[in-house]
Amino acid sequence: MRRYPVLNLWVDDCNMEKALAQVMEYVDKGEKVHTIFASNPEKNYSVPKDAFLYDMFRKADLLIPDGIGMVLASRLLYNTDVQRVPGCELMQNICKMSADKGYKIFIYGAKKEVNEAAVDELKTRHSSIQIVGSQDGYLSDDEMDGLIDRINASKAQILFLALGSPKQEMWISRYRTQLKNVRVCQGIGGTLDVLAGTVKRAPDFFCKMGIEWLYRLISEPKRLKRQIRLPFFAAQVIQAKLLRK
Ligand code: UDP
Repeated sequence: MRRYPVLNLWVDDCNMEKALAQVMEYVDKGEKVHTIFASNPEKNYSVPKDAFLYDMFRKADLLIPDGIGMVLASRLLYNTDVQRVPGCELMQNICKMSADKGYKIFIYGAKKEVNEAAVDELKTRHSSIQIVGSQDGYLSDDEMDGLIDRINASKAQILFLALGSPKQEMWISRYRTQLKNVRVCQGIGGTLDVLAGTVKRAPDFFCKMGIEWLYRLISEPKRLKRQIRLPFFAAQVIQAKLLRK
């Protein structure tokens, strides 16, 4: 899959179908841990501040265009047909695919009650889903060896990390070499909160229009600090486009 640089970050030439096919290939090939991170305008500014994290993003196997910002930017800069692949939707589609194919899943992250409610919700949706282990996201560093042992013993092939960004990306970069059977690891941020129903996903209208960020801003005004960068991002992309001509 082609990777496009967008300002300071990158995004893969992706759509939901291609992303799922890639996940299937990663699991079926059965080699190494593959990382899936979400690329969005906010991270374009935060990730490069940490050289280690930046390198992790550069080396990620799949950088999904999580929001409309990356999609529009890559279309404007490269005339591509990149489509939105919201991490939250990809996770749920991977769960469906895993239920059909018998892939084993481990879910790590979020508060205990949120994690449990999300696991229950997935089991209700897919009777054949194999969630072979789960853990809330508030363990101490001392407890990590035990968690790694549990993940390995569970033989999970897919690991979802719901620790928020950049904690989840840091976790996988630190522990990936100790994972024996995991083939795909996706950072899913607040997806378990959505599945558990503690955070509402934007109504369909906002999702279809690609303005989910606007809904989140209205419903969680404290996100303004994070989203304030969006106009700068747009201006910089337009500037980059003009300079390329
Ligand atoms: N979280 C966690 N452990 C931590 C910090 C956060 O499990 O030490 C969880 C938190 O409970 C929430 C998720 O990580 O479920 C963060 O969601 P958020 O929407 O902030 O993530 P984003 O996608 O914006 O990075």
